Amino acid sequence: MTARPGSDGGPRWASFAQRCDDALLDPFLRHKLRHAMDLAVAGRLRRVSEEPRWEDMRDHAHAIRWHVVGALHTYLEQFIERAEARGAHVHWADDAEQARRQVLAIAREHECRRVLKSKSMVTEEIGLRHALESAGMVVKETDLGELIVQWAGEAPSHLTGPAAHKSRGDIGRLIAEQLGVPFTDDPRALTGLVRDHLRGDFLTADLGISGANFLIAETGSVTIVENEGNARLVTGLAPVHVVVAGIERILPRLADLEVFLQLLAGSNAGQKLTAYTSVITGHRREHEVGGPEHVHVVLVDNGRSRMLADPIMRPALMCIRCAACLNVCPVYRRVGGHAYGWCYPGPIGQVLGADMWSEQEGYDLAFGSTLCGACAEACPVRIDLPTVLLRLRQRAAEAEAPGGAAERRRFRLWAFAMRHPRIYRMLPNWLLRLGMRVAPEIPRRVAPGWVATRDLPEPAPQTFAQRWRSTGGFSHD
Ligand code: SF4
Repeated sequence: MTARPGSDGGPRWASFAQRCDDALLDPFLRHKLRHAMDLAVAGRLRRVSEEPRWEDMRDHAHAIRWHVVGALHTYLEQFIERAEARGAHVHWADDAEQARRQVLAIAREHECRRVLKSKSMVTEEIGLRHALESAGMVVKETDLGELIVQWAGEAPSHLTGPAAHKSRGDIGRLIAEQLGVPFTDDPRALTGLVRDHLRGDFLTADLGISGANFLIAETGSVTIVENEGNARLVTGLAPVHVVVAGIERILPRLADLEVFLQLLAGSNAGQKLTAYTSVITGHRREHEVGGPEHVHVVLVDNGRSRMLADPIMRPALMCIRCAACLNVCPVYRRVGGHAYGWCYPGPIGQVLGADMWSEQEGYDLAFGSTLCGACAEACPVRIDLPTVLLRLRQRAAEAEAPGGAAERRRFRLWAFAMRHPRIYRMLPNWLLRLGMRVAPEIPRRVAPGWVATRDLPEPAPQTFAQRWRSTGGFSHD
């Protein structure tokens, strides 16, 4: 297993459960999350209700993504060939460290020092900003939410809304402090302040770094969707543009964007389309007035090939990072993204964590789900996340991950008793009741996780079998 690919490279200081406990102590966090998630969910439901083809589009998208996952290497080869034919330099990174080194080498080759970033989860995954800053470069996020969490010294807490855990007041105070302006919590005024602040940076940056929503194999193009226009400036104004993308972000044809752009925008927050869609193919041509002189694409594996070879994990490669599963998840909605301890929160983060994070923490994440199925219902590419999580739990138990061995022993004992009615009947009910009165801490010792959040009822005065015998059958009293 790879080491944790978090954004700050910091030590693991608490388990998932502990971080959830801490998050639950903050009533303001729950309130802020509920407000943000309710808005996103309402938007998605409205979009679903007004689009009669929605379910067909989901089927179509699932079919395309599953096909791509099955033929990933073919489409990657095609993408690399077409992108290089249009002048882009394509690099392959086996892991996070190699990806960081490659971007650093590109920056040094072009003597870049002022770096602007647009929002990209894979750069969070590989800890890119931290690495560039450590090498002496000035790196600034340009997505409003990303800039807010950068200023706050925090990691993003949501796939598409990095500052979803912050209120307007929190953001107003932060911006007042950073820019030395009077406090306001008016969203229009705040975005105007940040826009003015970033304008000079856009004009002087010598390296723009972006992620990619989709890589188009047919044309070698990179597709980026956004609502703020910052990604367009990051990728178009600096002389060098580096795209950092997970190898699974491939679509076969440009025409496939039709369904994916709609599903991505609609599933995220209910838009028909995002405000800006950029399709970037190679570097600036002679007759073109804008665009970078050099385009580099860093394709990041970082565990994805291993997921491809793993039948349990493979469906997760279909993900298009729309965040719909986070927005509906009853766990995420209460604890927020930081509780998950790494850059991918929510149900998809719990699945990815089992492979891409350390084994112990990854499996811990898989247990932090109600398995209610809301994520699978919302997922635009129909990833059956609850089933994947269940299989990961099974794998954890088999690998004797936390509680696995003890739990297995308990269930073996139970199964044995259930298969042998005579032995089962020999377990006197009164003994159990007496035991629970005299030593009520026993259940806590035997099944601490279970009783921590549940009341264990006292056994009934009579067992079902005793009652059956005494009444001569069913009793309706
Ligand atoms: S798993 Fe599905 S719902 Fe969740 S982020 Fe990925 S595509 Fe969206």
